[in-house]
Amino acid sequence: MFIQASDARSWRKCKRRVWFDNNPPADFVETEAGEFEQLIIENGNCLEKKYLEQFKQTLTVVEATSQEHTKALMKDGVDVIYQGIFIKENIIGKPDFLIRQSSGAYQPADVKLAHDADKIEIQTQLGVYRFLMETKLPALAYLATGEIMEIGDEANEKVSAYLASMQEILGAKTPPVARFSESKCRECPYQTICKPEFESKGELTLLYGLESRAAPGLEEQGYKDIKKLSVADPENIADVPFLKGHEKKQRIVLQAQSYMDGNFRQLSEITLPGGTWIHFDIEDYPLTESGQKHVYLWGFLKPNYDRADFDYIWTDAEASDRDGWEQFLAQVSEYGGQYPDLILAHFSHHEKTTIELYAKRYDMESHPVVTWLLGDESPLFDIQKPVKESLVLPIAGYGLKYICKHPNLVNFQWHEADSGSQWSIVQFARYLEEGAQGRARLKQSILDYNFDDVLATRKLELWLRALPNEFASIQAA
Ligand code: SF4
Repeated sequence: MFIQASDARSWRKCKRRVWFDNNPPADFVETEAGEFEQLIIENGNCLEKKYLEQFKQTLTVVEATSQEHTKALMKDGVDVIYQGIFIKENIIGKPDFLIRQSSGAYQPADVKLAHDADKIEIQTQLGVYRFLMETKLPALAYLATGEIMEIGDEANEKVSAYLASMQEILGAKTPPVARFSESKCRECPYQTICKPEFESKGELTLLYGLESRAAPGLEEQGYKDIKKLSVADPENIADVPFLKGHEKKQRIVLQAQSYMDGNFRQLSEITLPGGTWIHFDIEDYPLTESGQKHVYLWGFLKPNYDRADFDYIWTDAEASDRDGWEQFLAQVSEYGGQYPDLILAHFSHHEKTTIELYAKRYDMESHPVVTWLLGDESPLFDIQKPVKESLVLPIAGYGLKYICKHPNLVNFQWHEADSGSQWSIVQFARYLEEGAQGRARLKQSILDYNFDDVLATRKLELWLRALPNEFASIQAA
């Protein structure tokens, strides 16, 4: 079995996943890549093609067809070898480009749809190329931002760890033991195999907030599954890595109870700020020419919270990025004048960090609206905070859609059932490629989605306000 340099990505996500990649389960039917995945692949291919065309303008480029062919092209001193192949023992690497230096040596390079080369999988993959080529020259990562980053000897340790781990994984007859992680497993093609196994054995890491590094310590104490943990007395649980202190232990026991009965628990009183609430949500597009994310939609839902009360700013071209930002500041300033008690409610820190990013991008950190939004008297209010602080919910992740869609919680459904942040990126990518007629339809569906998002935070607000706030003892719904 070959260890592929490109397996570093899958390996980094999950050792079990990389084992399955190399030992496809007998009854596993590989599904086609989803629309978002396809979009990422297409964008990666476009970026690679762009660099390929750039090389071709001034240099001789030849595509390699085998390891022998690669060696022959290197011997001939071809300027750039496209998709060269290196094999050493059972390790194989295929750099996108091999670039001849004035010394005659070749430098491996890969195109990456990333904004930096710090990710371990990128460093490992490019480090494996250097290992296979036995070169001291740094490998190059051509990034989506147009930057070219060097990866040198600092990646050697990662390469050694990767190769040793992969030898062990591929030598195993059965898949390695793995823990569940919602963010990791949600996107994994083998979820249909692993998740039922996790569920049937009551795997502890199915619980939101339970780190995989905490699970072995709990199991050693006899809390071998969620059911056992749900009846534990937090006082009797000894500290384990990543689960120390009474509060955390009480929370995880309640999380187990919530998992078992599907109801939520309230830990403390929720006090939401008074004032005039405007719900706020943005949509951004990361796959831009420059590699910088572009917020193309800033959406607001103001009183009386009907469709007619939905305001938005839309700037589809990346060239109008600053214009959209300035319109946003003007809109917020207008709301501030209209409602002196304004609360600009959003879900999670994403909106606030985007305002910080844009203020920095356009050197507007001292703009009066920016200092107001980011200062002590800010109208911004992150509605996810009281949820996380005061509630324990029967869901795998505390994202807006998990909370709002759950029938025992807010029970609000989006009109487009499959919508989400990846869905909106795909719709916007399609929008950019469409003619006027198609654009109008796609714009409407993105606006409908954004409206549902801000309406969802409004429904969440109402649901939180309606909670009885009587929790002398921890309550179930
Ligand atoms: S579903 Fe999760 S545990 Fe299973 S292979 Fe995929 S990432 Fe690993």
